[in-house]
Amino acid sequence: MTSTPTASLLDDDKKFIWHPYSSTCSDIPVFAVKSASGTHIYLENGQQLIDGMASWWCAIHGYNVAELNSAITHQLKDMAHVMFGGLTHAPAVELCKKLVALTPDKLDTVFLADSGSVSVEIAMKMAIQYWHAEQQPRKQKFISLKNGYHGDTLGAMSVCDPVTGMHSLFNNILAENHFIKSPARPFGTPCQDKDLNELQSILEQHSHTIAALILEPVVQGAGGMKFYSADYLLQAKALCEQYDVLLIADEIATGFGRTGKMFACEHAGISPDIMCLGKSLTGGYMTLAATLCSKDISDTISHHDPHVFMHGPTFMGNPLACSVALASIQLLESSDWQQNIQRIEQQLAAGLQQCRQLEDVTDVRTLGAIGVVELKQAVNMASIQQAFVNAGVWIRPFGKLIYLMPAYIIPNTEITILTNVIFDVLNDGNHR
Ligand SMILES: *Cc1c(COP(=O)(O)O)cnc(C)c1O
Repeated sequence: MTSTPTASLLDDDKKFIWHPYSSTCSDIPVFAVKSASGTHIYLENGQQLIDGMASWWCAIHGYNVAELNSAITHQLKDMAHVMFGGLTHAPAVELCKKLVALTPDKLDTVFLADSGSVSVEIAMKMAIQYWHAEQQPRKQKFISLKNGYHGDTLGAMSVCDPVTGMHSLFNNILAENHFIKSPARPFGTPCQDKDLNELQSILEQHSHTIAALILEPVVQGAGGMKFYSADYLLQAKALCEQYDVLLIADEIATGFGRTGKMFACEHAGISPDIMCLGKSLTGGYMTLAATLCSKDISDTISHHDPHVFMHGPTFMGNPLACSVALASIQLLESSDWQQNIQRIEQQLAAGLQQCRQLEDVTDVRTLGAIGVVELKQAVNMASIQQAFVNAGVWIRPFGKLIYLMPAYIIPNTEITILTNVIFDVLNDGNHR
């Protein structure tokens, strides 16, 4: 194989490719990666970066992990893919059995999908079909939280924050749903009754047209990196039950240990009716997501017209993805992950503390293996991104937020480098 010189690789990238949330006419740099291993990303130009992002919550064990590589190569010898309509295979069965055992009670049936956004679409369709089967076909709307993020497809977008999700741009095509204020009380504090007034009043007035409340439990991710009271979650679940509305927990970002519990719902001790998983499900190796629901939901849908659940992705249950997901969960369970997350939390908190004294910083917060520095104003992406890379780290801010969500294997010395670089870059004004 001949290798393309880095310069022409980047030229062709700029010429032919869209990146996530990108402009084809901007000067924000992209960097060519040659390989990645452990907590390190190696650029084509020879630079080595310490990774603070775990590729957007996914690569919880780091990159190039022997156990995960081997799961894929072993599976590849049997088959890369077969259709899932009318056929099944051990990787899917073992994975789904594992997911049911691992997740909170009452999540008994698994629907596999290719991406987080699609698993949210599936959750919304399940809720609608469930109420249809229950002879309540008017229950087709959703309640969601401001600052929420649930994905980029149109159905998922309709429950994302209406401002950051640019609903005005898509107003004729997005379904209209109900939005309530994002929970005010921070994580670790109790709720007051008035915190749930808005939810209660919408439920009181509209529950006959509402299928589900959808939320990210405890951590609102891409919509603002906010950590809220677990008590809110507990009380919201109680209100949903009282008003006959399902609860969909979007654990795509929080699942598999990131917040210190295997699933963030466990902070409140609740079992949602439907749960979405994705991102770190395969340890960051392949795209795979899952929507779990109660037996009541799956059976109710199946016992009523049209007697099937109306969804079926082409690449459903891809064996390579299922095998690596199973291996990733086994690897997580065989490690002392709880203690590890605690260690990372302490180190992030200690290392980011110094940022509080900076004039442009409004808040510093940590929860589990997530550390956030919130600024007064949105960063200058072009300059801050280059400054981070020059300092030998991979950190990708968005808007006013600079955050870390490293692989669980990251050593304390590397966390300290990441947090010191954030301080230095802000202190030098490279974010302006
Ligand atoms: C990333 C994310 C999604 C969307 O997942 P994709 O795989 O990007 O489609 C949905 N919900 C939450 C909470 C997420 O963090």
